[in-house]
Formats: sequence, structure tokens, C-alpha cells
Amino acid sequence: MRLPLPCNKVLATYVWIDGSGINMRSKDKILHCVPYSADQVPPWAFDGSSTGQATTDNSDTILKPAYVYRDPFRCDPHVLIMCEVYQGDGQPAATNNRKYCNDLCNYHAAEEPWFGLEQEYTMLDMDGWGLGWPKGGGFPSFKYQFSYCGVGAKYVVGRDITEGHGKACLYAGIDFEGTNAEVMHASWEWQIGTSVGIKGADDLWMSRYIMARVAEDFGVDITYHPKPMGLLHPGIGMHHNFSTKRMRSDGGFKFIEECIKKLEANHMKHMKKYGNDETTNRMRLSGKFETAPFDKFSWGVASRKASIRLQRHVKEKGKGFLEDRRPAGDCDPYLVCGLLMETCLGPAAS
Ligand code: ADP
Ligand code: MN
Ligand code: MN
Ligand code: MN
Ligand code: MN
Repeated sequence: MRLPLPCNKVLATYVWIDGSGINMRSKDKILHCVPYSADQVPPWAFDGSSTGQATTDNSDTILKPAYVYRDPFRCDPHVLIMCEVYQGDGQPAATNNRKYCNDLCNYHAAEEPWFGLEQEYTMLDMDGWGLGWPKGGGFPSFKYQFSYCGVGAKYVVGRDITEGHGKACLYAGIDFEGTNAEVMHASWEWQIGTSVGIKGADDLWMSRYIMARVAEDFGVDITYHPKPMGLLHPGIGMHHNFSTKRMRSDGGFKFIEECIKKLEANHMKHMKKYGNDETTNRMRLSGKFETAPFDKFSWGVASRKASIRLQRHVKEKGKGFLEDRRPAGDCDPYLVCGLLMETCLGPAAS
């Protein structure tokens, strides 16, 4: 693995979201110089019929480079390339929501949308049961609350993975912000942010790819399922923190309130797209385990039982950001960030 390569050979890993809308794929191409931005990376094709993105008789599917990261596995000068997927006819593939989000980011650039994303996840052993959970379908013997930000082998498991993931994300150039053990045993969270425009969602997807690669080395499966261990156990979400220049400026609280009213009016439109599968996010948003019910919009200051939470200092300072607690762990941040901009700021003109 340490063999030196000729200096004009750069390994580029093209990364994309497959037809499932949550799993990722990658394949490698040798470039002859280091690309510093996506427009220096050539488009590439793949067999979309093997990823649920095309039919066998019309399978050539296009990878369009979107963002270049440093490769934390091979190190410099090698790169990871986050890509968008296009069908042979030039249309975005069904699970390519980046174009939708990017169009809104460009259209509303003067509003300076910022995002902070809190990705929760669960580590599973290769038998599909929670990592470190008693074998044969057993449950942890202690209360959940001990795992949240917990320490000690009894309460947390898989710290090597979160540690490796965090360092790899920072090396790659991701806006990696922090990490903590979550309430349910074998579940954790990392945060991306505070990021400007499309970079938050790009970074979140690349950080999911890096997590899959790090966990691969440990023989651990990572799931973003919103309710992986059943109804009696906590759920897995991805809170989206969102602000614009107006929200962050003096008097911004009034605009935050206006946005909350619009979000309330569009509640079900958002809920339909806030997870990879509406039914599993419905299981998570039960009104229990620090969630608001799926069908009922609510907001509150410092409330973890509301759809939208405002941190106490936002109310005190009269400006800041809002936290949308509704998205499932397996949501597409391109869709959620896009919807937040569309509903609060208006659609992008075509
Ligand atoms: P909690 O778990 O209490 O919700 P976290 O610290 O996990 O809090 O997440 C808070 C998130 O809010 C971070 O991802 C951060 O980037 C984001 N954030 C902070 N300020 C802003 C802002 N002005 N606009 C958008 N997001 C913000
Ligand atoms: Mn081939
Ligand atoms: Mn958090
Ligand atoms: Mn959390
Ligand atoms: Mn949160």
C-alpha cells in the first residue's frame, strides 16, 4: 500500500448516490494531474442497470463531477470526487436531487443560506443486530440515558470508528464540526457545518461515504434507518439547522417567525420527502423519544418535542437560526435543504 506512484498518476474515486437514494457507490479512474475543482475532472459513465438507475438496454449513465475532496485513505495527491448522476438522455437521475438544491442555492445566493446538519446513525454487527448488543436478539441491560455522550465499554461501542471518521473527514476538507455518542446503544451523531449553501449537503454525503469506508475496515455495517431497533427504542434523525442573512441580522426573529408559518402551511409536503421512506420516518416521529408527531406541526423555544426548535439564545438575541427536527436519519440533505429554501425564500425562477 505504501508503494510510491509515478508523479503524474492521481487516483480519483468517483462517488455517487445509487438508485436506492441512500446507498453509495464508487469507482476509480487514473487522472494525470491533481484537479483543484470539479470542472477539471472529466465526466465518466457507469452501468446504471447495476445500480437501479437505468434499464439494461439503455444503461449508460453519466457521472458529473460536483466537488473535489482530498482522499483520506490514499492521502495526497489522490482525490474523492462527489458526483451527480444523469441519465443517457441528459435528465437528472431519479435520486439526483443535487441539481434542485444547487439551483435554489444559486438563485438565493444573496440571502446567504447557511446549514448545520446533525447526522445520527447506528452501528450494526454483520449479523444485522446492534454492535455490542447481546447476541441472539438481546437488549442492553442499562437505561438509554447512559449512552448519550457516554464513556466506558459498557455504555458505548465503536469509538474507533467515529474517531477515524472524524479525522478522515477533516483531512478531506469537509466542514466536520463535532461528534457525540447518542441515546441508543451503538448509535452516534456527527455534525457538518456551519456550511454555506450547497457545501453542507455535499459534505454530508461525502462524510457518509467516508463513514462506510472506515466502518468497512472494522467489519461494521452503518445504518441510517430512522427506527432500526423497533418501536420501543429511540429513533435516528438528521436535524437540519438553517439560517439566512435576514435571520442572522438584527430583528431577524420576525423573519424566523414568518418562515415558521410557511413551514407550518407546507408541513405534509415536507414530510413526504423528509426520509428515504415515509413509513419508517412515521415510526420514528411517534411523539416519544424527543420527537413531535409525524402529522402535527409544532414549534417551540428550547423544546425537543417540537417539529421546529429555536435555541434559547435565538429568542434572547432576537436573531439566529431555526432547527428542523423532522428529517429522518436516511433523508437526502439535498432535498431537505432545497425544500427549506423553497418554502422559506421561494422557488428558483426557471
Ligand atoms: P443540538 O444537538 O442541541 O441540536 P448541535 O450542536 O448538535 O445541537 O447542532 C447545532 C447545529 O446548528 C450545528 O450543526 C451548527 O452548525 C448549526 N448552526 C449554528 N448556528 C447556525 C446558523 N446561524 N445557521 C445555521 N446553522 C447553524
Ligand atoms: Mn467494464
Ligand atoms: Mn446534536
Ligand atoms: Mn442527536
Ligand atoms: Mn439537534
